[in-house]
Amino acid sequence: MKYFGAHVSASGGVWNAPQNAHNIGAGAFALFTKNQRQWLAAPLTQRDIELFRAACEQYGYGPSQILPHDSYLINLGHPDAEGLAKSRESFVEEMRRCELLGLDRLNFHPGSHLGRIGLEESLQRVAESINIALEKTKGVTAVIENTAGQGTNLGHEFEQIAYIIDRVEDKSRVGYCIDTCHAFAAGYDLSSAEACEATFRKIDSIISLDYLRGMHLNDAMRPLGSRIDRHERLGEGQIGWECFRYIARDPRFDNMPLVLETIDESLWPAEIAALYEAAR
Ligand SMILES: [Zn+2]
Ligand SMILES: [Zn+2]
Repeated sequence: MKYFGAHVSASGGVWNAPQNAHNIGAGAFALFTKNQRQWLAAPLTQRDIELFRAACEQYGYGPSQILPHDSYLINLGHPDAEGLAKSRESFVEEMRRCELLGLDRLNFHPGSHLGRIGLEESLQRVAESINIALEKTKGVTAVIENTAGQGTNLGHEFEQIAYIIDRVEDKSRVGYCIDTCHAFAAGYDLSSAEACEATFRKIDSIISLDYLRGMHLNDAMRPLGSRIDRHERLGEGQIGWECFRYIARDPRFDNMPLVLETIDESLWPAEIAALYEAAR
């Protein structure tokens, strides 16, 4: 089964996300379980949890169709002790929120060395951060997203993600998410079926696609290898529609959330419908 959807709003309460996803014809969705630009959030109440679970049940969304995303403030590879501790604490909190909501994965960007420590040391910190979080939580997989490689951000090369996964003790609860725009910006060509074939073969050889727990389907505004993270409407950017048709037809991407973060929300129903059409 293919599960296509988008990163929908959870404003007003997490339980609104399943309804918002249903309204656009989505079979999957991503959400923030708290305000993504703030460190603190009120704890989830029993009522929040019950309403969310009931809405997922009502609209037919199971954990393999939902890809929560953590706060943008968290940096699990932080160079400073204080920043690292705060990030780790907040990440555990986000993992717990997922656990309470009955979700089985949490998508996050690996972090940034901020030019103050070496790349490898920062990657080691990310792995250690994941180990700590897995130790303190149950049932939720840490899903590392590849990045466009802007500035000092970690994770634009899949080797870096493999380096982190290698150092995670519980391999059953770590995975990754491929963002097509980020991959393209990082120099992985996806602009034709042949390019997709070669790129996914390459990624699979670096980290087995068995670890893949979701995808972000975004076209890219900037050219291959730009290292600039600018999403575009599907088929309207430098990647082009062929990549998304390729993903829609490839069973390696079945049974996981495939979510849009494209720039024009009003197009989401049409983009989702086109993806389902391509998958038939
Ligand atoms: Zn993304
Ligand atoms: Zn992005």
